[in-house]
Amino acid sequence: MPTDLIEDAKVSLEATLAQLKGPSTVDVLKVQQAIIRAVHQFMFERGLVQVMPLMLSPITDPLNHGVVDAAITYAGSRWSLTKSMIFHKQLALLNPELEALYIVSPNVRLEFADRAFTGRHMFEFTQVDFEFRDKDGPFVRAFMEDLVRFVFSAVTRDLPEIVDRYRPDGLPEIGQLEIHRTEELEAQYGADYEHLKSQEAVKPFWLLNHRREFYDKEDPAKPGTYLNYDLIWPEGFGEGLSGAERENEYHQILKRMDETGSDKEAFKYYLQVAKEYGLPYSAGAGFGVERMARFICRIKDINEVTPFSRRPGTPALF
Ligand code: AMP
Ligand code: MG
Repeated sequence: MPTDLIEDAKVSLEATLAQLKGPSTVDVLKVQQAIIRAVHQFMFERGLVQVMPLMLSPITDPLNHGVVDAAITYAGSRWSLTKSMIFHKQLALLNPELEALYIVSPNVRLEFADRAFTGRHMFEFTQVDFEFRDKDGPFVRAFMEDLVRFVFSAVTRDLPEIVDRYRPDGLPEIGQLEIHRTEELEAQYGADYEHLKSQEAVKPFWLLNHRREFYDKEDPAKPGTYLNYDLIWPEGFGEGLSGAERENEYHQILKRMDETGSDKEAFKYYLQVAKEYGLPYSAGAGFGVERMARFICRIKDINEVTPFSRRPGTPALF
């Protein structure tokens, strides 16, 4: 059982100040700023409407791995800190005028201490989350390829010295990316397939068919497989984005909730909407801004992407 605290975690003011004054921090902050600026421009040009993030909600992403519960009681209700905006994206698309939206959203996921040194996990981070009504996985993957190409060229244009410092050969060119399936890579590489394939790769690639949350659509043509996709950063940096076509039909959502052991009571109004009003068919994805900046600047430990340490299971002074 993972613990939620690193046993001998000590955090000194010296170490905290060293991180705040870290030489790479400002470079990475500038890269993050350039990413966000390019993302807003790209989304605006493609007609996605920005919805503001929520930090508290009666429902949030159940996630497919355990985290420490982060909830408070307020106004007679239980409110969870946002782990992702997945359900709000689906619900916002009930507005017939809205066809596509995005949210730049803080996510709080109190990861267990076993994720302290993966290099990829913080206990709070920022996700760019987007969703399209009546679109499918291939559409979303092509959209993301366009977005990454746009962002990489914006960062290279706006911050040439920084990109040159961390990537003298430049950022990878993004065309149509390779597509792999989890079951194929697992047969080839064994259980650690995602990491091994990422280490070997020089360009990002797609990885399809993960068994996870109830809202990722099961393939009706091939039950037991899922219409979801991750974008994997190369050079061992690993997962950068997760997305899927969504379950939107009431009975199928119930079936998937049973399979994943989800709490139906907590989702009763969401289920009522699906049953009585109908959730729109949609597809989308979300990517971590810090993980993208980490890849661009080739930073081993994501905790160095922020001036304020947010290492899983570890206390921080500020
Ligand atoms: P998910 O839907 O859970 O895959 O989250 C979407 C994206 O957010 C992931 O692909 C990562 O880029 C990013 N992400 C998820 N969890 C974390 C974390 N603990 N720390 C930093 N980034 C994360
Ligand atoms: Mg994921």
